[in-house]
Amino acid sequence: MQHTTNVDRNLDMALKHWLCVEKQDFDQPIVPIQIETTSDLSFQVSLSSAPQGFLLRVSIGVGRQIDELLNRAINQSSKERTMHNMIGFVVLNELAHIALGHFEFSNGFGIAHRSTDNQISFDVKPYDKCLLVPKCLEMQADHEALEELLGTYQEGSAYDVREVASAVCGMMVLIELEDTKNGAQGRTHPRAATRIFQLLGHVAEMPLVRAQVHHDTSLIPTGEELQAYRRRTASIRA
Ligand SMILES: [Zn+2]
Repeated sequence: MQHTTNVDRNLDMALKHWLCVEKQDFDQPIVPIQIETTSDLSFQVSLSSAPQGFLLRVSIGVGRQIDELLNRAINQSSKERTMHNMIGFVVLNELAHIALGHFEFSNGFGIAHRSTDNQISFDVKPYDKCLLVPKCLEMQADHEALEELLGTYQEGSAYDVREVASAVCGMMVLIELEDTKNGAQGRTHPRAATRIFQLLGHVAEMPLVRAQVHHDTSLIPTGEELQAYRRRTASIRA
């Protein structure tokens, strides 16, 4: 067993936190989800069906690799919050596969394990679409996770949106690095550029969603407010 560090404890706390958040927000029967943290130093996340519910397995390598990336990228004061949001994105993406019914197509989802884990398979016909389907499902799961993590638009929330969106970008890049190590056959997710493009679209649309949902133009923020929001979130796009 590896020596437990602060980073491992932060990983554990973040996993429990995000699982609780998801449970509260589930608008459907609660599915039992168990978390298991493994002592593997490589980057491993997997969600699989278990005899009763689902098992989310995450290696301590995930926390340690996030920590290593953040040590090079940002100052210490915002490091823990950023790591918390990065893990939130991973957990919410994995759990979105349950809510979206993706287990009809596969017996498991995860990051950077498919090349070595023969137990995960996709039941898709025709079979030549097998390589495309997992990536489409990941884009759907990303969308769900982003909605939940970023929440609904509030006036003056641009800095919070920017902070969460930057953490998600970091996580997408880290997953891309893991996928690259696995080579083309083992790629588990769409390219980071594709995922970040969807994220930026979501961030740009956020202030307009309420007006679109309720078909009510009076809910569109004022031009001044929109300009301020775009200016404050611009650094994610830079
Ligand atoms: Zn996923």
